[in-house]
Amino acid sequence: MTEYLFEAPATPAIPVKGESAGYPVVRIFCVGRNYAAHAAEMGVEVDREAPFYFTKNPQHTLASGSTLPYPPGTENFHYEMELALVIGQPVLRASVDDAEAAIYAYGCALDMTRRDLQLKAREKQRPWDLGKDVEGTAVFAELTKAGEISEIGAQRIHLEVNGAVKQDAHLSDLIHNCAEIVADLSKYYHLREGDVIMTGTPAGVGPVVAGDKITGGIDGLTPIALTIAAPE
Ligand code: MN
Repeated sequence: MTEYLFEAPATPAIPVKGESAGYPVVRIFCVGRNYAAHAAEMGVEVDREAPFYFTKNPQHTLASGSTLPYPPGTENFHYEMELALVIGQPVLRASVDDAEAAIYAYGCALDMTRRDLQLKAREKQRPWDLGKDVEGTAVFAELTKAGEISEIGAQRIHLEVNGAVKQDAHLSDLIHNCAEIVADLSKYYHLREGDVIMTGTPAGVGPVVAGDKITGGIDGLTPIALTIAAPE
């Protein structure tokens, strides 16, 4: 069926360095607790056996440089600076080598979070959707193709609020690295073009308020920015 009763929103896209066309965002998977120091600050154990995931609706994609009104239903809206990767070819039950080859590009991302609702859900052993799957909270900067960045590991990952450094770590601190994440997730999903994965945040998460300006970066990648505005 090609006709719709109502106008449907377009598929969001992320710009790619050197390309005039964007990378379409069809699904967004996010890894939880993938830096030991962040798991510790959240008061939880790290599972080194395998990563775990939650998802965000691709319609919640927002471009770097945007202004996001403080979202409804929260009094503790947090930043999470992350490395995102995107898939460039279909994989199912991939080996780590095949998973590595399936990564098309990397970019800076923000997994903005209604922390109060996430923690309340966690306490009650309920899903995290109200905390994590929030409008405008999947923020992406321009992507850089995998061949144009040096091997993932030594790069610094950092975030500032109004210029003050809040998160400062290295990608070598990732518990499950990018290829391991793709290989693991491909046990459960037919991963393909359009799939975006946020790989988790380092320690130092914290709240923002209206008027705050978030900036972040990862060595070798296009930096990211987000401004928080008054609630609607
Ligand atoms: Mn996150």
